[in-house]
Amino acid sequence: MKLVILLGAPGAGKGTQAPVLSDHLGVPFLGSGDLLRAAVAARTPLGTAADRYMSRGQLVPDATIVDIFLERLAADDARNGAVLDGFPRTRGQAEALDRALAERGKRVDLALYIDVPVDDLVARMASRRICAAKGHVYNIASNPPRMTGICDIDGSPLVQRTDDLEETVRARMSQQIPPLEDVMEHYRATGALRTVDGRRSIDEVSAALIAALEVGAAEAS
Ligand code: AMP
Repeated sequence: MKLVILLGAPGAGKGTQAPVLSDHLGVPFLGSGDLLRAAVAARTPLGTAADRYMSRGQLVPDATIVDIFLERLAADDARNGAVLDGFPRTRGQAEALDRALAERGKRVDLALYIDVPVDDLVARMASRRICAAKGHVYNIASNPPRMTGICDIDGSPLVQRTDDLEETVRARMSQQIPPLEDVMEHYRATGALRTVDGRRSIDEVSAALIAALEVGAAEAS
């Protein structure tokens, strides 16, 4: 069982790197928003409990989200582990997850932090474009479409999301970074934290994350 938490500020590249890690390890990628929406859609008791908060734009209580993840981690395809994104998001969640895993004889093996300075994140997001039809993601600086302003995949126009505007990005960062630092502090104390420089190319960051996984595996054996 290999349980890996992916940590990083919004825009650090977690969404890009998560599939690389889950492919490498042969385990599912579990993003908190997707997992919660699936539980809501399936109308499980936990999903219904989560929906009361999500529909008001609030965070789901720690106990509920911990149980949703534990339920998902008990599924057959996660028997060898999983890559988690978006959870734990606070120190309380990290502690609750550790307690619940310890009761089952499991633990978080690695918390991989993709480190990108805030100014770089703001610049990255300012050049991010999303296709209007399906949300395919481009970056006009580092990953432009073949034809300016047009999605390569479905030909729809590329737009900038209002939440990628600089002021919005800075506001989101100042809200999300303090709890992220708490979570990092928690995993630093448990010895699970590894930091990877996220300013490099996508492939270089993937290679560094995979190298960190291998070191983690060697240390654990
Ligand atoms: P996202 O897709 O990551 O924006 O998440 C969508 C919604 O799911 C959020 O607005 C929260 O209500 C909930 N959510 C996602 N992750 C967490 C978490 N770690 N703790 C509590 N609620 C969460």
